[in-house]
Amino acid sequence: MKKTTTLIISLFLSCSIILCSCTKTQPTATTDSPSPKQTVTINKAAEPSEYNINVKLTPEKRELVGEEKVKYTNKSASELKEVYFHIYPNAYKNEATAPTAFVGIKDMYPNGFNPGSLDIKEVKNGDSKLKYETQGEDQTILKVILPKAINSGESVDLSIDFSVIIPEASDRFGVLDNCFNFGNWYPIAAVLDETGWNLDPYYKIGDPFYSDASNYAVNITVPKDYKVAATGEPADEKLNGNEKTYTFKENKVRDFAFVTSNKFTVQEKVVDDINVRCFFLTDNKENNAIAMMAAENSIKKFNEAFGKYPYKNFSVVETNFGTGMEYPELVYIGKQYYTSTNQIPTLEVVIVHETAHQWWYSAVGNDEIDEAWLDESFATYSEGAYFEKKNNSKAYFDNIVRSYTGSERSIKGSKVVLRPVSKFQGWNDYGPLVYRKGASMLCDLRNEVGDEAFSKILKTYYEKYKFKNAKTKDFIAVVEEVTGKKWDKFFDKWLLDK
Ligand SMILES: [Zn+2]
Repeated sequence: MKKTTTLIISLFLSCSIILCSCTKTQPTATTDSPSPKQTVTINKAAEPSEYNINVKLTPEKRELVGEEKVKYTNKSASELKEVYFHIYPNAYKNEATAPTAFVGIKDMYPNGFNPGSLDIKEVKNGDSKLKYETQGEDQTILKVILPKAINSGESVDLSIDFSVIIPEASDRFGVLDNCFNFGNWYPIAAVLDETGWNLDPYYKIGDPFYSDASNYAVNITVPKDYKVAATGEPADEKLNGNEKTYTFKENKVRDFAFVTSNKFTVQEKVVDDINVRCFFLTDNKENNAIAMMAAENSIKKFNEAFGKYPYKNFSVVETNFGTGMEYPELVYIGKQYYTSTNQIPTLEVVIVHETAHQWWYSAVGNDEIDEAWLDESFATYSEGAYFEKKNNSKAYFDNIVRSYTGSERSIKGSKVVLRPVSKFQGWNDYGPLVYRKGASMLCDLRNEVGDEAFSKILKTYYEKYKFKNAKTKDFIAVVEEVTGKKWDKFFDKWLLDK
């Protein structure tokens, strides 16, 4: 997501791993089924899980009904007796848990608060009905008891019947004016990593998500006048009476999002063999041209600077949202940036930032709850890299650093970048630290190692962790590998305020 600041056009986030890595014990194999917060050994070579989802939207009821088939693979060295999923729409059931912190309740719900939810009808394995429980302080965790334990590397086929009510809201998950944002909308497997199951609630700040790259095939049925922007390759379109079914397929993506509306117009351009599509709600030729230019130039610049974008499709979608939001192969860009010329940040900056997340978050994944800086600081730094190329000037980097130092005094409390999202007070400290302090650190690192080594660091890190989840210690290891020296004091200072 892009965090707006009145001082400068820049996003922020940061987190770090040095502390976390110190507090973790060595993984040990166990024959017990892993429980939350337990040290686990992970088989990194395990096959990705597979999702086959069929859903149908009834716009007038704000309801999506369907079935999800998941082939879930046990990546741990232990046997598994249960599998956990996030069912994020339940956070929208009431005002207390809805993720309103960024824009506030009034702007998020212009028609007044109304609930959203995800209802599980049935969970099966073949013909057998399985036991399940909805858990968590915001009811966003689904625990499924497996019919029999699965061993390391084995898979289980689950079929989940569910329905979703989407709230009238300007948010990742919400509808306004016939434009439906389906972000974080279906049961998605929680990550089982070296720390056990990650079962965090839907926190109100940051982009509090963490997922493994998986394979997806998704059929979405909508009224025939609706267009669909989605993660993945548009594989098929079938008209059936007044309905249309769109099929999207993709391998190794860490989430699947879509936006659908009967008001979209679409422009498309092939950039470095990638189909770049801009979906518009507003008919503003000048701003729409800026959007396409920013998408095209970002893809070209980042392909060159970090390594080739690993998919064939990328959609930039104008929609109702407080700022910008990233999903694999798809980004939301708030409608306000297209309709007004007075927005700070600008339409171009928001698109550049969200496109950079295709490298940092989508391709190279990270735990956005415990180590959010790994994608936000990198995306903010990438804004500077884009404008450096475009303007042949490093002024944008100077602005990022100045913006952080300017806001530092107003941060009450800790200046530590690397800590879980729940340990920040709100956007007021999370924004400057996780986005701008982390990006300032990357600028400083580049000054220290020189342009050539810094470029090699980013390219090596991207290539090594593409389709995986990287930790802060992994990035530091790449820095040490490329430069041949230790950097612990440097990262301790910047990320842990030591
Ligand atoms: Zn961001």
